[in-house]
Amino acid sequence: MTDGDKPLRPEGLRPRSLRVAVLGCGSVGSQVVRLLGEQADDLAARIGAPVELVGVGVRRIDAAREVDVPEGLLTTDAVGLVSRGDVDIVVEVIGGIEPARSLILSALAHGASVVTANKALLAEDGPTLYAAAADAGRDLYYEAAVAGAIPILRPLRESLAGDRVTRVLGIVNGTTNFILDKMDTSGAGFEDALQEAQELGYAEADPTADVEGFDAAAKAAILASLAFHTRVTAADVHREGISEVTAADVASARDMGSVVKLLAIAELKGDAVAVRVHPAMIPRSHPLASVREAYNAVFVESQAAGQLMFYGPGAGGSPTASAVLGDLVTVARNRLAGTRGVGESAYADRRVLPMGETVTRYAVAIDVDDRAGVLAAIATAFADHGVSIKTVRQEGRGEDAQLVVVSHQATDAQLSGTVEALRDMEIVRDISSVMRVEGENE
Ligand code: NAP
Repeated sequence: MTDGDKPLRPEGLRPRSLRVAVLGCGSVGSQVVRLLGEQADDLAARIGAPVELVGVGVRRIDAAREVDVPEGLLTTDAVGLVSRGDVDIVVEVIGGIEPARSLILSALAHGASVVTANKALLAEDGPTLYAAAADAGRDLYYEAAVAGAIPILRPLRESLAGDRVTRVLGIVNGTTNFILDKMDTSGAGFEDALQEAQELGYAEADPTADVEGFDAAAKAAILASLAFHTRVTAADVHREGISEVTAADVASARDMGSVVKLLAIAELKGDAVAVRVHPAMIPRSHPLASVREAYNAVFVESQAAGQLMFYGPGAGGSPTASAVLGDLVTVARNRLAGTRGVGESAYADRRVLPMGETVTRYAVAIDVDDRAGVLAAIATAFADHGVSIKTVRQEGRGEDAQLVVVSHQATDAQLSGTVEALRDMEIVRDISSVMRVEGENE
């Protein structure tokens, strides 16, 4: 019997303290350590037992920290920390796949419950972690992995467990939202907006994970898994970033009363799910259009509840630590009660639709010769691919004209086939913008 199996509150006795190890003391970990110290009394009262920090695993002992870690707790021996056998809760805020995965698996095997903020690991190998937690009879909580401080995973896992979620639309990456917002408000191009984001600390020196949509795709996989009770990994998510979004795309959206956002979209389609991350136009009247700067929001549609919106800071050490601490309190209460919370719910085992079969809508801005018959020829190209047109707007520009065609819903394969055919047409001088359209009623 491990120490973790012993009842924490023997009859008539005060419970012993809950021993917590934190792995990582960077942006998030330092704030977790700070809050554990500053809020020790409140946490003890809320949990029903004091929380004792027993170690903080880091890579470099001597690095400057944003928090004064109590004497003697910093260690580079994270492996030893998680395997010492007397730790109740391990908080993993190192990030990445390894050594985070091995450390979490070891922590669970040694009887600890785990709280993590690691979206990359959960999106790549969540089922392995869930299985290990189930085998060990321990908790695995990860609210901070998606949209930082915003409570969204618990609502999906628990509050909406009696409903049927049909769609999740999220702005889940603050860096890209900041850049697109800048492009919208100032007319800047992508490169200039990215540079400003980097200067202000909203984008990393290497912004690839954010601007190419990898970070959002990991979050989309986690959201889809929870919303639809099935397993979706990052590899299942169709991903397009924002580096190809031009000032012309943003201007075209503005002309249509819309705004360009990088959206993580998970939809229930019959028995299957469609999960994708790409830039899309949404009408300015849509609640997600008002999400400015580096804020995040997740818009959920469900059968009984209708439309719900969750909004707030999606990153940053302190906001993310808030979500980590919330999980820590829940997991600690479970330990004290000798129980565990909900585990993986993947009973539905749904097919993930390939992007070609996913139904979307396009807005296409086409520069054409301004002569008779052009509109009919363009309409025929759409019809030939089985795509019906919702609206066409035309602007004359001397010998040229620009047509902005918004389609009705069609498969992505039909729509991309249409755009390819348009590019080959003699009357088409340029296609200045192709953007998917979301958030409008058909
Ligand atoms: P970070 O600032 O880079 O900190 C990483 C920490 O992990 C550092 O303290 C580092 O030690 C430690 N570390 C790295 N490799 C290690 C190893 N092999 N063994 C032990 N410790 C090691 O990262 P972060 O921004 O706090 O992010 C942590 C996690 O939270 C990631 O999963 C991230 O995706 C997630 N998250 C972050 C945010 C955010 O706003 N930052 C938001 C939501 C989720 P040294 O300090 O000694 O180098």
